Amino acid sequence: MRPTEPAIGFVSLGCPKAVVDAEHILTRLRAEGYRTVGDYGEADLVIINTCGFIDSAVAESMDAIDEALRANGRVIVTGCLGSRAEAIWARYPQVLAVTGPHDDQAVMAAVHRHLPRPHDPFVDLVPAQGVRLTPAHYAYLKISEGCNHRCRFCIIPALRGPLVSRPLGDIVQEAEALVRAGVREILVVSQDTSAYGVDVKHRVGFVGGRAVRMSFVELVRELGRLGIWVRLHYVYPYPSVEDILPLLDTEGVLPYLDVPFQHAHPRILQAMRRPAGRVHPLACIKAWRGIRPDLVIRSTFIVGFPGETEEEFAALLDFVTEAGIDRLGAFSYSPVDGAAANALPDPVPERVREERLGRLMTHQAAISADRLARRVGQTCDVLIDAVTDEGLIGRSYAEAPDIDGVIYVQGKGRAGERLQVRVTGSDTHDLSAVALPAAQNEKPAGQARARPTP
Ligand code: SF4
Repeated sequence: MRPTEPAIGFVSLGCPKAVVDAEHILTRLRAEGYRTVGDYGEADLVIINTCGFIDSAVAESMDAIDEALRANGRVIVTGCLGSRAEAIWARYPQVLAVTGPHDDQAVMAAVHRHLPRPHDPFVDLVPAQGVRLTPAHYAYLKISEGCNHRCRFCIIPALRGPLVSRPLGDIVQEAEALVRAGVREILVVSQDTSAYGVDVKHRVGFVGGRAVRMSFVELVRELGRLGIWVRLHYVYPYPSVEDILPLLDTEGVLPYLDVPFQHAHPRILQAMRRPAGRVHPLACIKAWRGIRPDLVIRSTFIVGFPGETEEEFAALLDFVTEAGIDRLGAFSYSPVDGAAANALPDPVPERVREERLGRLMTHQAAISADRLARRVGQTCDVLIDAVTDEGLIGRSYAEAPDIDGVIYVQGKGRAGERLQVRVTGSDTHDLSAVALPAAQNEKPAGQARARPTP
């Protein structure tokens, strides 16, 4: 027999920030007694959490709306693309409601309007850590919303507004609830993690009754007390990064920074209007590695920004080599509706942009292979993500889920377990390893394991 609770189909597209928004909406839905279903036919209405970052994301979001309208007919649209409501209404006047990103209140109001909430909400059945879309052993933690910068290729500040930092006490409380729920790794996300607290002028907040300043350094210190892995994403090269380096630890906030440099040539960085655009990325990385030789750096880059010359692109390749970027993601520049960069002169032809993207990825593949080969023979801790017929798949502190490579482990274990392994082989992006005998995996309380140096 079909359950009587109203059923909602939910599609979530986009970046980790959108995942967090989706989790908040799903948590509220569950709290109020709505069911979520994976079949359009079974749903009473469908919510599409869209992405509007680049043109291909817009197209994917529009396709998702189209598909849900055809299959179900009752659709609420939210997320980044929802900030351009007129474009959605123009194409799909039949959608029930459109709301912007990070606005679960408006989404819930639309749900209540079109699918009245059940009479007896199941509040007690909602886990304290909310509903999550990630595997049980890792979770995203959003520390702020919006961004104070105006990078010329980006429309996120227009979509999500200026920086608004969450109170530090709320962040720590959410993190502690995640740990209690069994999460073994927290991935800190925002638009600009190192700017945490700038909007409130680093005012004093309260964490468990203690007065603590809302700053990037104090955030790292507080999260470092959780006793699980914490990984920092979207870190910009502000001076405060040097202050957090001594706090990093392979047992706590990891010596892994995701720093979206986007380019390395000073003229391009300034043309992009990047945060800390006058900081020289190479000098920065050298200073950081002087303090923390074990620091793993992931970065993303845009090639073919308007006006980028062959020499400026070559400078980017040199930078990637000299900096020893461990993990790299890259995009070829594409104009985004509403972005200031669209008005810049000297667009780089698409053929050249694609050719540069291919060269950058080939270039990085050799660097990645070289840096991974240096880890063969080392031991490290691995968090197991999956168990397959061929063995275990996991990651060390040097690999973030979904965006970096993995470690294939021969041995026994289960998802969410941490094992000590010896690295036995490497290729371009991944490692292979064997689990060390159980006795070596028993870590006496309070004794940190040796830190590997990739
Ligand atoms: S820092 Fe730049 S790229 Fe990142 S969200 Fe802000 S404006 Fe966009």
